[in-house]
Amino acid sequence: MEDVQGVGVISKYGLEKYNALIEMNCCCFFEFDMEADRLSFSNNMVIPELSGKVIEHSTFQMSSIIVDRDVPIVIEFLHFAGENPIEFRLKGFVQNAIWCQARGTAIRNEQNETVAFVGYIINIDQQKREREEQTARSRMDSLTGVWNQFAVKEIINGVLHTSDSDDCHAFMILDIAGFDVLNQKLGFLFGNVVLNNIAVNLKKRITEGDVIGRVGTDKFVLFLKNMESVSEAYEKAELLLKAVHETYAGENIEQKLSCNVGVSFFPKQGTQYIELFSKADIALYQAKQNGEEITIYHRDGLKLPKLAEGQLYYNEYHIKELGSYKKSEANMELVHFAMELLSNTKDVGSAVNMLLDKIGRNFLVSNVFVVEQEKKKTGISYSWNFKEGLGKSTASQKYVEELFELLSKASGMRRSCYTDLDMGVRVEDGGTMLLCGFYEEDHLKGYVYMERNSGCLRWTEQEVESFMFITKIISFYLLKLRNSERITEKMEMAKNFDSLTGLPTVHKFLTDAEILVKAYNTTRFAIVSMDIKNFKYINDSLGYDAGDRLLKEFAQYLRDTSYGKQICARSSADNFAVLMPYETAEQLKLRVMSIVESFSEQQNRKNVALNIGISAGIYMLKDKEKDFMAAIDNANIARKLVKNSSVDSCAFFDDNMEREIKKEQQIISNMHSALDNEEFQVYLQPKIKLVTGKISGAEALVRWMRRDGTMLPPNDFVPLFEKNGFIVKLDFYIYEQVCKLLQKWKKSGAKIVPISVNVSRVHLYHDDFLDKVLQLIRTYQVEPWMIEFELTESIFLNNTVTAITVMKELRKMGFCVSIDDFGAGYSSLNLLKDMRTDVLKLDKEFFRAGEMKEEERIIVSSIIRMAKQLNMKVLSEGVETQMQSDFLKTVECDMAQGYLYAKPLPVKEFELLLKSYEEVLES
Ligand code: C2E
Ligand code: CA
Ligand code: CA
Repeated sequence: MEDVQGVGVISKYGLEKYNALIEMNCCCFFEFDMEADRLSFSNNMVIPELSGKVIEHSTFQMSSIIVDRDVPIVIEFLHFAGENPIEFRLKGFVQNAIWCQARGTAIRNEQNETVAFVGYIINIDQQKREREEQTARSRMDSLTGVWNQFAVKEIINGVLHTSDSDDCHAFMILDIAGFDVLNQKLGFLFGNVVLNNIAVNLKKRITEGDVIGRVGTDKFVLFLKNMESVSEAYEKAELLLKAVHETYAGENIEQKLSCNVGVSFFPKQGTQYIELFSKADIALYQAKQNGEEITIYHRDGLKLPKLAEGQLYYNEYHIKELGSYKKSEANMELVHFAMELLSNTKDVGSAVNMLLDKIGRNFLVSNVFVVEQEKKKTGISYSWNFKEGLGKSTASQKYVEELFELLSKASGMRRSCYTDLDMGVRVEDGGTMLLCGFYEEDHLKGYVYMERNSGCLRWTEQEVESFMFITKIISFYLLKLRNSERITEKMEMAKNFDSLTGLPTVHKFLTDAEILVKAYNTTRFAIVSMDIKNFKYINDSLGYDAGDRLLKEFAQYLRDTSYGKQICARSSADNFAVLMPYETAEQLKLRVMSIVESFSEQQNRKNVALNIGISAGIYMLKDKEKDFMAAIDNANIARKLVKNSSVDSCAFFDDNMEREIKKEQQIISNMHSALDNEEFQVYLQPKIKLVTGKISGAEALVRWMRRDGTMLPPNDFVPLFEKNGFIVKLDFYIYEQVCKLLQKWKKSGAKIVPISVNVSRVHLYHDDFLDKVLQLIRTYQVEPWMIEFELTESIFLNNTVTAITVMKELRKMGFCVSIDDFGAGYSSLNLLKDMRTDVLKLDKEFFRAGEMKEEERIIVSSIIRMAKQLNMKVLSEGVETQMQSDFLKTVECDMAQGYLYAKPLPVKEFELLLKSYEEVLES
């Protein structure tokens, strides 16, 4: 009694009542003084958390010893002197929370008022946990519906207990192989269904009285009673294997289910569950080790790793939660399932199959299938049949198409389900079908169909509704799948085939070329790179459609000429690569030239004005050459040499070319500094007025005076600068030099002749060309008549509209404009009327040979006559002989320019020449 602390109430209300408590065979007394709000515990107790504790202001401090959630229960119990026992948890300091039970009695005073509450607390933790375990154990495996691992043990032990040594039972552990992978790939829901289906299939194969349980995530125990022989058990095990094999596990062949079985026998290998289990476990371990499907426990050749006591050989036997799936209302269950299944899987096809199976069983139908229309073909893509299972539809193609037609016509009922009532359609054998279409952007893409031919033929509203939902879900994922399949297909195609021409890409070309060259190792091969000369001009002037058409035609041409060991590819814009077998270099060149020439001919027959040509570069593969990409690059280098040539169409790669390329690269890397260092200089070539013999003007021509003293002619760098755009800078630099010179002449009162400058076609792509020109002449106070702009004829051909606009603007501003290189390579007479301007400069090609042929005379004189009629002056370039000069005078050519009179001269020399001409003529 002295053990009880807090004496107040007890001493007041007598010993008898306190004694009453002791009779209640308990663990820990408590006393609650209601008035003082004080709770005290006795201290000889087995609940160390409470021993001897006194809690003043118990209401507040309760949570120091009691689990928070249970505090209100305890408070209510104490304050209202609860009559019924309560269970609550103490905060344990030794272990986790401890379950306790409290019971109490109210102590009343003479007025029958409750003044205290006394009682006892016992530790029921052990009991409570055992109780929980008990209920857990008694349950079946909720996923598969077979016994769980505790139940199966109990049941088998029960059977073993009543068996005698004459009986023979087989004990098997069955382990599904690769289940983890399947689970990851198809999603846990899919995995769950697979496990469930395996269990269902296994159950079908066992006899009544046999026991089946799930002992691990993908492991089952089977206990088969009364085996006549080992071979009978073996046969049984084979049946079980078959059941697993037959379980649907997705479309992928690699996903086909397989398993291993370890077998042990009662009584030979044990009389207790645990003994049989460990032997079967060893057998299973051996099966896995030896790659066998079924292994019966035997001691022969047993080589097992040592294990700690109680550990098993093959695997951990515990059930991993795969994930859970909440059930909802009956008809929505399937809908949720469908949604979850499909949204969790990476293999939509397999999931749809699985879903059809589930639909089939759920709706109690005989057939379910999905019809899709893809690439104009309407057909069943997934099906399930009550008798045959998956993928064995009995519906005819005709029937499938008829239904599709029906759906697509019944536009008023779109997006709804069609039942026999809606449509009056009945399947021949008297069953009833339900189908629901699915749509993409309002186009019917397919439908889901199911058919019932026995039992209740009428669909309930719930059934129709869930079916609609499910169709929507299926269609969403199927359409998504098909789209991504199409994209993958396209990407695959794009990697290997060029979308415009259909020719292989470089990617494919490289792989194919390697294979070919390896396969025909005695054949010699070359890589030919080809492109369409002036393709950019064609694109610019005739439009992209025309350009595309030309590319397609060339591709087709290459395709037609490539067969056997020859393959071709489109390597970039207008660039094509061909792998060509050859015997000799001459024969190779002939072959390439025949392609080049016959294609150009074919094109030019169609379009005379375009003058289409092909340039080709040939690189002969060396023995055992591996780097085909570098080979293409080399062929490209060779090709570039003839790209701008109007004469040559084909060149072989040689080592000089690499040097050429290097030289070009050097030019490009030096151009900026050269401009800063004033390495570019203006040379002037006089223009002579033929009637008077006076200098009537000059052309400014650029020269690159390099620091090493060498001079580069413009043909070595201007084309390069036109390609990389630097020409814009350089030209304006020249224009500025010319303006400065004119300003100087003007200021010094010297005689001024107009100076012409060259306009690169690149300027036409810049809108500010005219503004910049204006700015320049303003800065140097140069008058427009002093400057003439030379636009080459080719500018007009390729950029007709812009060129004509610029020309007109320049003339409006007061400048003279001449058409340079007239007659060079282009048949442009009919364009003359559009290009009407101040001066026509006849190309120097007309005067090349020194002595002029009769035809040339005729052409030149007619051009001059024509120009005159169009009010244009004519200047002949490249005049080198007196004879040419005399001829030009007779045909009334206005001016001439050429070595006969003077070469392009440094400015100083030109000034002297100008002066001497004046003097000579004046004297
Ligand atoms: P182009 O405009 O046709 O210039 C005439 C070319 O013919 C000059 O070559 C000139 O030296 C050359 N020539 C003059 N008389 C004779 C002759 O009697 N016989 C022969 N065989 N040739 C003669 P050049 O200076 O080498 O210029 C070549 C081309 O470079 C020019 O052809 C022009 O298209 C371009 N070019 C020169 N300077 C510039 C420039 O500042 N800007 C731009 N954009 N291009 C320029
Ligand atoms: Ca010129
Ligand atoms: Ca010229």
